[in-house]
Amino acid sequence: MDFALTDEQELILATIRDFTDRELLPHEDEVERRGHVPTEVADGIRRKAIEAGIFAANMPVEVGGAGLDNLTMALVEKELGRVSYALHHLVARPSNILLACVGPQRDRYLYPTVAGERMEALAMSEPDAGSDLRGMKCRAVRDGDEYVITGVKHFISHADICDYVILFAATGPDPEADPGRGRSPQRITAFLVDVGTPGFEVREGYRSVSHRGYNNSVLNFDDCRVPASQVLGEEHRGFDVANTWLGETRLAVAANCLGRAERAMDLAAGWAARRTQFGQTIGRFQGVSFKLADMATRLASAELLTLRAAWKADRDIMTNADAAMAKLAATEMLAYVTDEAIQIFGGMGLMDELPLERLWRDARVERIWDGTSEIQRHIISRSILRPLEG
Ligand SMILES: Cc1cc2nc3c(=O)[nH]c(=O)nc-3n(C[C@H](O)[C@H](O)[C@H](O)COP(=O)(O)OP(=O)(O)OC[C@H]3O[C@@H](n4cnc5c(N)ncnc54)[C@H](O)[C@@H]3O)c2cc1C
Repeated sequence: MDFALTDEQELILATIRDFTDRELLPHEDEVERRGHVPTEVADGIRRKAIEAGIFAANMPVEVGGAGLDNLTMALVEKELGRVSYALHHLVARPSNILLACVGPQRDRYLYPTVAGERMEALAMSEPDAGSDLRGMKCRAVRDGDEYVITGVKHFISHADICDYVILFAATGPDPEADPGRGRSPQRITAFLVDVGTPGFEVREGYRSVSHRGYNNSVLNFDDCRVPASQVLGEEHRGFDVANTWLGETRLAVAANCLGRAERAMDLAAGWAARRTQFGQTIGRFQGVSFKLADMATRLASAELLTLRAAWKADRDIMTNADAAMAKLAATEMLAYVTDEAIQIFGGMGLMDELPLERLWRDARVERIWDGTSEIQRHIISRSILRPLEG
């Protein structure tokens, strides 16, 4: 594996770094204070990202994206990850699930999303179905040329500002379900549902301590009718489209964590080198300097796992366990690094004059969304035991 940067990658990263510094970081405090991104700020970021050629960088050139490979995208995500999700998600990396769009779906959803004219949200989780998505209750029942959707989704990120949702709903029990597992897993289908469709309501969600301004909503479907042409991918095969997305998303989460951890590391190292107690800089105390050593080692390990997974993804050999290891290592590392950074700062680390307490709060959700740490461990351990039939 060779992770040496090409000239082109250097140029792309310099562009993203510059964009992050000039267009995203200056808004962080305001977004934190207000709890939302003002519309004019969001529109400005989107417009400037399109002008800079960094919008939809993950999507193939044929559909209007920049067509960056997974390794380059991991490096891009790392740069963007220095800033709160509330801001960096506006430099959109549309869900690759949209590549499953066919015919008129491409004109209505895929191309406008890649062009920054429309925005998607992704709705899987429900109050009674989080990690166990096959237990979802939101259902879509076929009625002639339509489906009738009923149910509730929650925790749906940026649904308050999206134009449509990629909705996962149960379309009947799976005849191949394993009754030995004591439940009746559903077959799941993905749908494209426009905001404003009668029977579909987006309601205010909960207030999260992580990534303030990146709001989540509750989606209510009450006999919401959508044409069968709104099925994304094949009927009953919703998890096929979801799986292509999950690997990419877990890599992105891992890479975002690297950027934020590096930011916390830099702050902590700078403070350790300057802050004086007992007549010397605190970095001269082994109790502090060894913290920095452990933080840097865990950061480098997580980075290697993330780049390794991305390198494999570019060769179509990335397994679910590769992506899970990257996400697990990077998200747990970020929690550790931000916590230790605060410890090195002492009391000042908890004050909102510094971005540290925010990085620490933002770190908390990374071990939960897109599959909890326990689910990542489950995926990794199954990859070890399944070949042994254990
Ligand atoms: C801020 C935020 C934004 C989100 N955005 C979205 C979004 O845009 N779209 C979307 O669909 N979802 C979204 N989610 C939902 C997120 O993906 C879920 O929270 C996550 O999958 C966990 O589900 P849960 O919260 O219901 O926890 P649960 O699944 O109820 O888990 C509770 C605990 O039990 C553990 N657990 C569960 N099953 C197992 C097992 N088999 N083995 C070991 N431990 C287990 C979990 O690891 C966890 O510790 C978001 C969540 C948050 C917090």
